[in-house]
Amino acid sequence: MPYIDPHTHMISRTTDDYEAMAAAGIVAVIEPAFWIGQARTNVGSYRDYLSHILGFERFRASQFGIQHYCCIGLNSKEANNEALAEDVMQILPEFASKEGVVAIGEIGFDEQTALEEKYFRLQLDLAREMDLPVMIHTPHRDKKRGASRSMDIIMEHRLAPQRVVIDHVNEETVREVKERGFWAAFSIYPHSKMTAPRMCEIVRQYGAGQLIVDSACDWGISDPLSVPKTAMLLAEQSISDNDVHRVTYANALTAYGQSGQMREADWATAAIDQRARYDGNTVLRGGQDPRVEADN
Ligand SMILES: [Zn+2]
Repeated sequence: MPYIDPHTHMISRTTDDYEAMAAAGIVAVIEPAFWIGQARTNVGSYRDYLSHILGFERFRASQFGIQHYCCIGLNSKEANNEALAEDVMQILPEFASKEGVVAIGEIGFDEQTALEEKYFRLQLDLAREMDLPVMIHTPHRDKKRGASRSMDIIMEHRLAPQRVVIDHVNEETVREVKERGFWAAFSIYPHSKMTAPRMCEIVRQYGAGQLIVDSACDWGISDPLSVPKTAMLLAEQSISDNDVHRVTYANALTAYGQSGQMREADWATAAIDQRARYDGNTVLRGGQDPRVEADN
């Protein structure tokens, strides 16, 4: 079965991860712009980061047979540095209009400050102007209130809920997200956020409609194989193949495909050619034989 992992920070992962993901059936990943573990101090490093995820990271994924897409945005933590946030807002439209950008994101609340709200609202307007879907990061502290407030604000900005994915949903927030018509994404972490057995219970209780599974793998303790592992567990727990396919592939494709930037044909015809270069560089090291395959 093919899988899509619609929330990954591959810039923090290794080529071993890409190989393992492709071997497990992952055909496409989405990399939302986010905080990198420490605060950026100026817009130049932001510009380089966005160029990196849209450029070399996309190339690197392709070298292992995985299609790579991005969400572009100013994250909530760095929205609290107003001088930086102002500068970043100026460069976002340029990056958000590039090939392979499927949404504005991940944006939303962290500590739920006034500055976070200001830049959240400005980026919702940007998504509307650019006609892009949105990926929402819901806060880990005070999640229920943060998620409700995020959805209220999205509605105030007249975005259609079916074009917005609310991420890091859990048992506390799933009902409201579904009832209000948004996509509900679940980050399956080894120890926190959401686990695969809990995800089974949620699919059983709420059905597969609007639900999306992702790994949110990054530089912290996380698992880039969360999506295929969860799919196997769901199947073992007698969830139908069709429902497993919806939550680990089809729903993400429908949600982010609304950008017009992500189509099944992208990976149906993809080839691996490790002789390829990005800005003069390959993923190979001296003496290695390049992998060349006609298609997946
Ligand atoms: Zn993330």
